[in-house]
Amino acid sequence: MKVAEKTAGISPEFIAQVRQKISSSTITHFINNQFVPGIRGETFESLEPSTNQILAHAYRGHAEDVDKAAKAARATFGKWKLNAKARKKYLLKIAEVLEKHGDELAVMECLDAGQPLKIVRAQVARAAENFSFYADWAERAMDGRTYPVDAEWVNYTLRVPVGVCGIITPWNAPMMLSTWRIAPALATGNTVVLKPAEWSPLTAWKLAEIIQEADLPPGVFNVVQGFGEEAGDALVRHPDVPLISFTGETTTGSIITKNAADQLKRLSLELGGKSPVIIFEDADLNRATDATIFQIYSFNGERCTANSRALVHESILEEFVSRVVERAKRVKVGHPLDLETEVGPLIHPEHLERVLGYVRIGQEEGARLVTGGERVGSEGNYISPGLFVGENSMRIAQEEIFGPILTVIPFKDEADALQKANDVKYGLAAYVWTRDVTRAHRMALGLEAGMTWINSHNVRHLPTPFGGVKFSGTHREGGEYSLEFYTELKNIALPLTEHPIPKFGK
Ligand code: NDP
Repeated sequence: MKVAEKTAGISPEFIAQVRQKISSSTITHFINNQFVPGIRGETFESLEPSTNQILAHAYRGHAEDVDKAAKAARATFGKWKLNAKARKKYLLKIAEVLEKHGDELAVMECLDAGQPLKIVRAQVARAAENFSFYADWAERAMDGRTYPVDAEWVNYTLRVPVGVCGIITPWNAPMMLSTWRIAPALATGNTVVLKPAEWSPLTAWKLAEIIQEADLPPGVFNVVQGFGEEAGDALVRHPDVPLISFTGETTTGSIITKNAADQLKRLSLELGGKSPVIIFEDADLNRATDATIFQIYSFNGERCTANSRALVHESILEEFVSRVVERAKRVKVGHPLDLETEVGPLIHPEHLERVLGYVRIGQEEGARLVTGGERVGSEGNYISPGLFVGENSMRIAQEEIFGPILTVIPFKDEADALQKANDVKYGLAAYVWTRDVTRAHRMALGLEAGMTWINSHNVRHLPTPFGGVKFSGTHREGGEYSLEFYTELKNIALPLTEHPIPKFGK
């Protein structure tokens, strides 16, 4: 698909410049504030999802590159952790420089990840906000409590940074998801080694440039490009990296847990989802329809909190389906740099095949494919927004498709809705639509989900906890929950009198 004219103030010349910059460089690692090639010199190709042509070449990092990065991060940790005021200043500076480079970041993310410009613009703003939000915490995150014991003792707690944090991210929203971990890690005095996904290496490279421009001390922030089984695995196993924040597939999370076990590393796992939206017969159907459509087709359906199962009361099922279908047919599938695009190309031909494979599976299982789920055009990884009507036991209702495919499932009553909502291995998010406030709260309490939105799509507030239960994750990040994760709590005890000490061997 061609790039349209409407690119919201981003001129074709600017896009050409960004392309030129990408194609004339090999995407390097960033270690000790230097852009460095891989030690072995091996590279890999990154494809542009809208054409599947080569967009960039990047260095393929191995254990020795990770070792160099981890050692750089370790060496500077001792100094970086000491000055909270300086950390605050640096984080604010990163936010400012990031905003200044917002258009370049947005163009890179569109080209590399295939996400539509409108979505990416919001993510750039959120990436900057991640740094300004956590900058404010740099000076308070280490607060503790006191525990006086009669007039004889005082215990107090304080927080210290953990050390070098390994941050491993997926390809669906690389910049937003990585900055959301990097910012609290740095704010609390840790140093970072980032391993971005091999299918979307570009914005981590640009972020390194931003961090260099913000003049952070060498070694505080490092990037190693490459493959999960090589660079990612080396980071997970590195003895100088005591903490791993991982966002990605559940199966990868499980592998990482095993590989980190011998060193008892601190892990935060943000994993897959198969989140339900539950629409009762008394719901505001207009708003519920808008929200459901957005929450499955935005981000090209490559969204961990997508409401990929719509559980709909049987009395309104056909009405709901016809409303969604009418709109799904009009959703604008197009080039990511076109401002009017609502669904861009999927990240990679392999992923397109996987999503199309699920469409075939749904049909074989006997689900009714009412619209979409077809490849669009012959170039790139475009697919039309799809809708099935099926049963909760089907694979298309149980497994994460990670594409713009909705499965609508009827339910009879509240108990049936709750049973079906929870009858899945995942537990990331849930959405409930009803005008009955007590029912909404009962559902929220009963739902096996880390996050529930009532009469709303996913609207994120940075101070709130983010994460899932069951196979969707093990931890919470966001707000003060990130600060807990990136710090160690210490208790210090001090007697105020000459308290009795047992005299052994006297
Ligand atoms: P993957 O699990 O395939 O990859 C995620 C990251 O892990 C990549 O950087 C990958 O490298 C790396 N990796 C792969 N294997 C290993 C390993 N053995 N050791 C260390 N690192 C490894 O996920 P995807 O990139 O396919 O992302 C999609 C998934 O992410 C979906 O399941 C989605 O639900 C989930 N996700 C969850 C979110 C949440 O907050 N819960 C948010 C966003 C996405 P490489 O790129 O080379 O494979």
